[in-house]
Amino acid sequence: MTGTLPSEKNKMTNHRNGTHAAARKAAQHHVIDRQPLDAQVDYTRTPVGEVFGQNVFNRQVMRQLLPKAVYKTLLRCIDHGERLDPAIADVVANAMKDWALSRGATHFTHWFMPMTGLTAEKHDSFVSPGEDGQAILEFSGKTLIQGEPDASSFPSGGIRSTFEARGYTGWDPTSPAFIMESTNGKTLCIPTVFCSFSGHALDKKTPLLRSLDAINKQGVRLLKLLGNKDVKRVTCTVGPEQEYFLIDEAFYNARPDIINAGRALFGAKPPKGQEMEDHYWGSIKPRVLAFMMDAEYELYKLGVPVKTRHNEVAPAQFEVAPVFESSNIATDHNMVLMEVFRKTAQKHGLRCLFHEKPFSGINGSGKHNNWSMADDQGNNLLEPGHTPHENVQFLVVLSAVVRAVNKHAKLLRAGIAFAGNDHRLGANEAPPAIMSVYLGDKLTEVVQALISGKKDSSSKSGKVLELGVSTLSHLPKDDSDRNRTSPFAFTGNKFEFRAVGSSQSIGFPNTILNTMVAESLDYMSTEIEKEMKGGKDVNAAAEAVVKKTLADNERILFNGDNYSQEWHKEAERRGLPNLHNTVEALPAFVEQEAKDLFKKYAVLNEDELVSRYNVLLEAYCKTINMEALLTKQIAATMILPAALEYQGRVAASVLHTKQAASGINLSQQEGMLRDLASKINRLHTNLEILESLTKDANEDHEADTMSHARWYEGKILPAMLDVREAADDLEMMVDDSLWPLPKFREMLYMY
Ligand code: ADP
Ligand code: MG
Repeated sequence: MTGTLPSEKNKMTNHRNGTHAAARKAAQHHVIDRQPLDAQVDYTRTPVGEVFGQNVFNRQVMRQLLPKAVYKTLLRCIDHGERLDPAIADVVANAMKDWALSRGATHFTHWFMPMTGLTAEKHDSFVSPGEDGQAILEFSGKTLIQGEPDASSFPSGGIRSTFEARGYTGWDPTSPAFIMESTNGKTLCIPTVFCSFSGHALDKKTPLLRSLDAINKQGVRLLKLLGNKDVKRVTCTVGPEQEYFLIDEAFYNARPDIINAGRALFGAKPPKGQEMEDHYWGSIKPRVLAFMMDAEYELYKLGVPVKTRHNEVAPAQFEVAPVFESSNIATDHNMVLMEVFRKTAQKHGLRCLFHEKPFSGINGSGKHNNWSMADDQGNNLLEPGHTPHENVQFLVVLSAVVRAVNKHAKLLRAGIAFAGNDHRLGANEAPPAIMSVYLGDKLTEVVQALISGKKDSSSKSGKVLELGVSTLSHLPKDDSDRNRTSPFAFTGNKFEFRAVGSSQSIGFPNTILNTMVAESLDYMSTEIEKEMKGGKDVNAAAEAVVKKTLADNERILFNGDNYSQEWHKEAERRGLPNLHNTVEALPAFVEQEAKDLFKKYAVLNEDELVSRYNVLLEAYCKTINMEALLTKQIAATMILPAALEYQGRVAASVLHTKQAASGINLSQQEGMLRDLASKINRLHTNLEILESLTKDANEDHEADTMSHARWYEGKILPAMLDVREAADDLEMMVDDSLWPLPKFREMLYMY
């Protein structure tokens, strides 16, 4: 087994009991004193080919364990969205139980994604007492299909008061059940949806599944119209690249801000940041690699296809990327990945931070949501065509996506709006809050040629590009290069939505993306049908609609530097929304247009949509409020006392020196004391301002949540920043041995 050795564990527990300053010292000591990595190596691991998916109730297992007829019925449900026949539930449940028990599981849980943004689970044992005092191991079809958690303890954004408190979890057979291993046992996790008694979705999965239904319906309709008669199903594929930080657990334990808020609320910029550009793709440090390999091995057992690992731009920052999967499974797998990473990091005496901006002054973390659509034959709908026919399909689908982002830019933006991501978007390291689409130079030429009807200079023959006649197979893949600044970039055969936050579930952003694209696919079909009624053949009709759609939505296309000031001006000129933060972004959800959109495609009814707006707005207020309280506590009880202690020492030193010998010029040291005192005064003043502002925020009970949120954004956040700046200034002056918090220069470099 790899992981932290017992002696180290004891040491870490001791840190928790000591003072913070002692903990910090111990943290440094602990890192330097660490056991050699070789002591942690496990040479007995089963080859990866054998362990991959061993903890998943996947198709292979089902084929082996289920009667043929049941297996086929289940597959129809999974692959073709047919309703599950309750009669087969008992058979499936029994097979699932036998399999889980044989793999050492003792408990099962419905595993779901409430609107907290995390996953939820309540474990029940398979064991029931038998008449003779023996254990009976039970798991019925009914228990598999449905659970009844108390919905009133999960965020509902107002739905709860109107309807019953009771909630239901319902089995989602399209995402396979899996076994989570933990220190003293194993638990069977059954992915489920979560809704209220009245059927209102209270989770992130239900709307995602509904949005996939909408994509399926509109996708199949469009492909059939374009002549693809055999298509049965269209779905979305997603490959989320995940960024994260790792710090030593001992440092983490000495940082109450990181423990409680997930980010450092204090801390001066380290002397060495990321300016040397030596971390990105640098050789991975042995301790970090040991963690990565361990975590990936656990994920392989769970069938999560993690593929790529590398050092990211900021020190102590890394990335992991899986092979893409269907949207629903990719969403579940990303949640599992984050959980396994958190747990495994602790085994290695590390902490994994998924916050969007744990350390100011260096890059934050995001999640690049690579997204496309595929038909049931596995054909990628965003793959540029090799034949004229594929070419038509590609350009129609591409235009639909471009239109969707332009038409619903505000919704796309709102889906990634929360306190953590506000630190990142628009901060010159992440895409700006302005949504735009990057197509790359060559594809842009094609688009321009289409719009203007001019010659397509990218085609070898220099002919006018005609849909249904020309092919796009000459489009160079790597042309759609590395525009790292674009929030929504076409990367050869998929779009990469780069503005998603590193800590958030990808469920909701994808729900929004799918719904708006479904609406655009619907639009394309309807328009093409209209043109065909006017007498055009399908290619001519598609060409006309593509031209018009691209021309109508051209303003969203931008290939340049999204960080530049010029783009901000240009975007404003083009009338593109620039919603700077959560407070500005969230109202898009309650506009009539959004209500109509989600209702029309049966993804969220008005109650469900408004409830999400409420949950997100409340979460925003609560997050900032908690950060403000932490800022006050840490400044008042840790930083001020350390600074006062140091002031006392400097004062005593000046005084003693004067007493010890007359005639020494101490004016510089007195100046230093005055400087220190004025810095302390500044911290104190700023702290008082924050104190009074938070009081106002909490007393204003009458105000609605939106005005609360505005107060937090406009008043509390800047006041917190003032406290921080005063404190960070002191960090540069106060005796290092008195400073109570581990510093960035330590946390980011010591492994
Ligand atoms: P890039 O170098 O442009 O970032 P990669 O090939 O490294 O592209 O892929 C990045 C991520 O995109 C991976 O998770 C990959 O599986 C995913 N991806 C590739 N093709 C698709 C697709 N058709 N749909 C969704 N995700 C995809
Ligand atoms: Mg990428």
